[in-house]
Amino acid sequence: MQGTIIVAGIPGVGKTTVLLELDRLAKEKNVPLKIVNFGNVMSELFKKSGKTIHRDHMRRQDITLQSRIQQQAARIISRTPGKAAVVVDTHMFVKTADGVWPGTPQKVLEALDPNMIILIEADAEEIAQRRATDATRYRDGGNVEDAKEDLQWSRYMASCNAVLAGVPIQIVHNRDGQQAKTAIDLLDMIQKRT
Ligand code: ATP
Ligand code: AMP
Ligand code: MG
Repeated sequence: MQGTIIVAGIPGVGKTTVLLELDRLAKEKNVPLKIVNFGNVMSELFKKSGKTIHRDHMRRQDITLQSRIQQQAARIISRTPGKAAVVVDTHMFVKTADGVWPGTPQKVLEALDPNMIILIEADAEEIAQRRATDATRYRDGGNVEDAKEDLQWSRYMASCNAVLAGVPIQIVHNRDGQQAKTAIDLLDMIQKRT
């Protein structure tokens, strides 16, 4: 298996939870996958530049700085060693102080060079609930309307990405309590494209 799969979704939809399940499942089935969290790579780069900030405060930083770090992160991820398919846990957009900003603008998309984009979605009501009950993070937009708007933005940005990169989009639904099933669906999609 080789190549890169972008797995994106709005804050609190359950990307990291599902990708933990995917990692476990892939190991069980001896499928070579390397899961990389884009936010972790950016956080490390902020730290190296002398700014240790909470992961939920990176999006409040100056947009030029975020953009530079974002591009560096994409280059680092693109150089991931080994033969395993790389699965990138990230966002189609980030809500910054300057407005809605693409998570994979052209240069980032070119560096990542994905085979496919997978959007993780869920019902807006369930996402609002997950955001409200996850005390480990500071997520914006706690109500159902916010989640609905975010789901729309994610698809708009994914469409732009698909056109630029000429790759397909798959949507996987992360139902309440069904993260293991969502991971099975993901693995199936990934194996067909890598
Ligand atoms: P972010 O973009 O902010 O990193 P995320 O998409 O990675 O968010 P997670 O941190 O994985 O989201 O999950 C958010 C919350 O939702 C967590 O409390 C997690 O336990 C819960 N959650 C995730 N998936 C499910 C599910 N299928 N059923 C119930 N709860 C879930
Ligand atoms: P996450 O844990 O996935 O929410 O990521 C933490 C933070 O990393 C996000 O809130 C963003 O500030 C940042 N981040 C993640 N992916 C990207 C991306 N593709 N472009 C810009 N910032 C990102
Ligand atoms: Mg996450």
